[in-house]
Amino acid sequence: MSTHELHTILGPDDWPAAEVINPQGTAPICLVCEHASAYVPASLAHLGVAPEHRKSHAAWDIGGLDLAVALSARLNAPVVASRVSRLVYDCNRPPSAVGAIPERSEIVDVPGNVGLSDVARSARASEVYEPFRTLLEATLDQFNRPPALVTIHTFTPVWFGQPRDVELGLLHDRDDRLARAMLANRPDDLNAQLNAPYSVTDGVTHTLREHAIPRGLQNVMIEVRNDLVSDAAGVARFADILNTMLTKALATQEAL
Ligand SMILES: [Zn+2]
Repeated sequence: MSTHELHTILGPDDWPAAEVINPQGTAPICLVCEHASAYVPASLAHLGVAPEHRKSHAAWDIGGLDLAVALSARLNAPVVASRVSRLVYDCNRPPSAVGAIPERSEIVDVPGNVGLSDVARSARASEVYEPFRTLLEATLDQFNRPPALVTIHTFTPVWFGQPRDVELGLLHDRDDRLARAMLANRPDDLNAQLNAPYSVTDGVTHTLREHAIPRGLQNVMIEVRNDLVSDAAGVARFADILNTMLTKALATQEAL
């Protein structure tokens, strides 16, 4: 039996569920993009999501992968990215979390996630989440010295009708070293904040907690407002900003 025949959600053309971009990158930094893709495998029939929401921020982090790839090129660091929409399975959530397979995301209903059987939930975890985490573990294992783990996300400028002023969020779990060091190196003209627009209490630090903290790796979750990375110029600007902030922050940490 070939590998794809073990899958019930992803077909042979969909597999694998995760990828490494710039795997030969030599910087001691591992970039991660859990919400890189809006792709829903054909077997799930768009999860019943209305057409206007299928490429919305509910399905993925708009501009997130473009930003991660641009930053990867500047740093020469690998990116581990999911190739499946977070509406199928949110790779930044453990299987026990309700939000791992959301029935609703902000104002978007996801009928295909309502009333799932345990078997269907398990298939989502085993076909989307497990390959992602296995690939991330394997990538972390390949560094010559312990890398910093940096997750790249974007957020919507308007949430439940409320505009958000923050432009760059630096989120941390128990280990706040890198988030604080980056904040200290922010440009003066940028609205950068610690733990905004989300924080650990929203359950968003799963990847950091699962992969960085047990290994003692420096880590941070970066959130960029998606209207600022909606075109190539915006992506390049933020890749430059984050490259500088991250490089300076890691240099100060090494000097300690
Ligand atoms: Zn995200």
